[in-house]
Amino acid sequence: MDRERRRIIVQGVVQGVGFRPFVYGLAAALGLTGWVVNSPQGVLIEVEAASDILEVFAARLHNELPPNAAIDHFDSQPIAPHGDSTFEIRRSNLQGAKTALILPDLATCPDCLHEIFDPANRRYRYPFTNCTHCGPRFSIIQALPYDRASTTMRGFVMCADCRAEYENPLNRRFHAQPNACHRCGPQLTLWNRHGRTLYQRDTALLAAVQALRDGNIVALKGLGGFQLLVDAYNENAVQRLRERKGRYEKPFAVMMPTLMQVEQICDVSPTEAQFLTSSAAPIVLLRTHSDQIAPSITPENPYLGMMLPYTPLHHLLMAEFVNPLVATSGNRSGEPILIDNDQALAGLSTIADVFLVHDRPIARHVDDSVLYIFEEKPVMLRRARGYAPSPVHVDEVNVEIMAVGAQQKNTLAVAHHGNVFLSQHMGDMDNVAVLDAFTRTLSDFQSLYDLHPAAIACDLHPDYTTTRFAEQSGLPLIRVQHHYAHVLSCMAEHHLKGPVLGVAWDGTGYGLDGTIWGSEFLHINSEGFERVAHLAPFPLPGGESAAREPRRCALGLLYALYGDDLPRDRLDFTPRELDLLMTALHRQINTPLTSSMGRLFDAVAALIGLRQRCSFEGQAAMALEFSQDGLKSDECYPFTVTPVTRDDGHIERIIELKTMIAALLRETNSAVIAAKFHNTLAAMIVKIAQHTGESNVVLSGGCFQNLALLEKTIRNLRQAGFTPFWQQNIPSNDGGLALGQIMAALKDQHYVSRRTGENHQHQR
Ligand code: ZN
Ligand code: ZN
Ligand code: FE
Repeated sequence: MDRERRRIIVQGVVQGVGFRPFVYGLAAALGLTGWVVNSPQGVLIEVEAASDILEVFAARLHNELPPNAAIDHFDSQPIAPHGDSTFEIRRSNLQGAKTALILPDLATCPDCLHEIFDPANRRYRYPFTNCTHCGPRFSIIQALPYDRASTTMRGFVMCADCRAEYENPLNRRFHAQPNACHRCGPQLTLWNRHGRTLYQRDTALLAAVQALRDGNIVALKGLGGFQLLVDAYNENAVQRLRERKGRYEKPFAVMMPTLMQVEQICDVSPTEAQFLTSSAAPIVLLRTHSDQIAPSITPENPYLGMMLPYTPLHHLLMAEFVNPLVATSGNRSGEPILIDNDQALAGLSTIADVFLVHDRPIARHVDDSVLYIFEEKPVMLRRARGYAPSPVHVDEVNVEIMAVGAQQKNTLAVAHHGNVFLSQHMGDMDNVAVLDAFTRTLSDFQSLYDLHPAAIACDLHPDYTTTRFAEQSGLPLIRVQHHYAHVLSCMAEHHLKGPVLGVAWDGTGYGLDGTIWGSEFLHINSEGFERVAHLAPFPLPGGESAAREPRRCALGLLYALYGDDLPRDRLDFTPRELDLLMTALHRQINTPLTSSMGRLFDAVAALIGLRQRCSFEGQAAMALEFSQDGLKSDECYPFTVTPVTRDDGHIERIIELKTMIAALLRETNSAVIAAKFHNTLAAMIVKIAQHTGESNVVLSGGCFQNLALLEKTIRNLRQAGFTPFWQQNIPSNDGGLALGQIMAALKDQHYVSRRTGENHQHQR
């Protein structure tokens, strides 16, 4: 039978996942000749055989992919046969544009797990075991293409056994870049808080476990940074961690040794189990039904952030410790997670009692990701380890653009060859250390993807650190309104082109009129957006500080509704404090107007006595969400919508709050009030959707992290015949904003032509 030859280009997640050995094995099994090679554009394959066998090859290539591989693009062209006699894996080709995808870090695979607990295996109890199906990727890569010499493993020379595995195409460790063993790889050390070495290797691990049993706090050098660990059953130890970290109420996450143990204290659906045990191994928020866990881990919160061990080091620790551990970011309040041994020692010596460190450098910080499951899909709250820097595929990407994100929960994004790469979570840019991480990540992304951006997108807010940074970049600047970016981010995730009704509800965003927006209904089409509705604005006495004091939001809201006749007894201020703030409101001194939904949540939480001050963002809204109970119906408070015709002739609908607040103040059961408040908000969205008439309604902004609000809104919209969309893989909070900024910049490409001449000069 005649032989045929095909040239195949495979793109997607095909590097660093054992794809070439898989192709090699398949070719060997089918008796094909030819070769396979890694290139910056993806994997190139040439195969030669009878045509029916080539069909089988193509089919099996798709059907039998290695666990973490994914094919986005498969192109197969017939070419002239060569008549080669073998199939080989060729050396990587470094030429051409860098379009290959960088993989996120992958949780330990079942094969490696088996090896580290097998006394007969040469990797028995080796904490840095990995293979092409698992192990560090993003946290060790320093340049593309992904090769050992361009990772933080380059300082370790493989022993003969490891080298043999690495070079054998039929071995699971063929070209596993971080491949290592007891003999040649990284090792553990236990330090006291002064950095003095106490123990090494396995003894260090066992001593760290003993320290945990004794109620001590252990700083662990994990995968993408340091973690602080403490016994989750030891209330005193957890309290001590809270005091030393200065983090008094914000929930901690917990790591459990096995899924079975998670199921003993939490409700776990099949989808939740699937995410917990996935190669991304995120923190999944679960409902807990046990009181075994120390109460101070998640005060006043029915959810527990749970994760499973995701490195051999975590597996070995947990197997020895047996009980759950609090595992929280190893950072000082507000700063990024620490990655360097010496910096961690300096930064955490007042928090941790001992340090379990190792000598494999971490290339960049990658926090644990956090999500919950709704309708069998993730709702991402913090996107980092296991997800970043996996791209969002966007057809419109035909130019390289950079977006710098927002001020809080910052992430940045780059658009490049049909993809948008969103960075890992960085944090709040008010902090100098976060700004530092931001600039490092930016240059990181630029060099990894060899980026020459034509423009830079930022928020409209003039005072954001990111805005100033963008202004100084010298690139054409695209300023994007905050809530528009939120909705575009969600549209990008769902490949929606518009027109849609966007609902962006959050804490703070700079509006086109210079006031603080935050309850925006935006009609969006291919041209841009129009603000069609929002809450009636109210003043925030003290401006920014109102976000930490819900009682101030309550005062501002009541003042807007009742003026001087406001019901003073509903407010938690001393008479003197109240007089001062009333004077400020009268004279409009530092009392900016806002239409923020986040601040409305705060105001209501304070008015019904749930919370007057917050120690972390969203705390009051969470109290309101978790307190609702005992209401089976969709009962709402009344509200009115007033159409206002703007100067340019377009109609804006103002949602008036007076009837709602008046009704709410007449009730006494805070659980019922909380439920009716959520119902009313969902009803507002349906009302405005009916006025606007667009069938696709896109929900974004931090308020939609609230599961009760999300659930009710989606149910009501569907009942009314609308199709709701919400953020799933990209956070609806400001962590997803950079994606929306990119989308806005892609719509508005006037900068492209302007830039062409300059680009030429750069090349010369
Ligand atoms: Zn493995
Ligand atoms: Zn070795
Ligand atoms: Fe926002």
